[in-house]
Amino acid sequence: MKEIVVISGKGGTGKTSLSASFAFLSGSEAIIADCDVDAADMHLLMSPDFAHNEDFYSGQMASIDNEVCTSCGLCLEKCRFDAIETDGERYQVKELDCEGCGYCERICPVGAISMKEQKAGQFYISGTRMKNTLVHARLRAGAENSGKLVAKVKKEAKRLAEQENKKYVIADGSPGIGCPVISSLSGADYVVIVTEPTVSGLHDLKRVYELVKKFDIKTSCIINKHDLNPEITNRIMDFIDSESVVHLCNIPYSNTFTDAITRGITVLENGDTEMIKVIKNAWETIKKSINDK
Ligand code: SF4
Ligand code: SF4
Repeated sequence: MKEIVVISGKGGTGKTSLSASFAFLSGSEAIIADCDVDAADMHLLMSPDFAHNEDFYSGQMASIDNEVCTSCGLCLEKCRFDAIETDGERYQVKELDCEGCGYCERICPVGAISMKEQKAGQFYISGTRMKNTLVHARLRAGAENSGKLVAKVKKEAKRLAEQENKKYVIADGSPGIGCPVISSLSGADYVVIVTEPTVSGLHDLKRVYELVKKFDIKTSCIINKHDLNPEITNRIMDFIDSESVVHLCNIPYSNTFTDAITRGITVLENGDTEMIKVIKNAWETIKKSINDK
């Protein structure tokens, strides 16, 4: 089983559309992992059935027992994150502001405060219309530790792939270079970086490649909307050439991407024959490259 991760230095490059296209082409040969848990949207293109659904807990949050609380106000006064409020009678913790430091628990004179595990999101395993399994999750707004949730998504996808004897795990990674991306890259066999010919696209490609290099993973690059700025496309080509990154393909600008997302389908199902050919060729190159390793 080989693990392929699709990432981008920035959002809006078409990363998820291409990940979903590879998921479509691989069909039942792959388990799909949506590691973009901060803004999960693979499910919009894959019609998952949410067959398995569980809460994801991470970190701690203070909880006040108002039956015990004597309304002394000490916790409200001392919490440096202003995470405690009162209506004059009852004291309560503001979920989004509590940093889980535990200080209020230690200072409450009557032991009315305890630390509880914080629900940080939902975790799902779904069958999809593409005849594969999608492992996905959704981080609660304002919740932290998305790297931990990404690690859970990847671990489960890998376990299912091994159990069901699948050839591939295809992961839609998070944009950027933070903790969730590092989690997405960990243990991968092959990385596809999707970029676009803008100043920020090139800048973010270089940043994310610096990160990828630390993992020593075979890496390739797709330049989406390459015809929008030939000058920067050439600079991207020079960069990936100098770093011996495999140039998978250039994709021309097309409304097909946004049309497909609006319709909840992949770009491969949207009838643009030239686009279909380019993406199919890219997938064949990935498969050949990864199996040659
Ligand atoms: S410190 Fe304890 S007793 Fe005082 S207001 Fe806070 S929870 Fe209530
Ligand atoms: S755990 Fe820390 S951040 Fe949360 S309410 Fe208590 S003192 Fe404030």
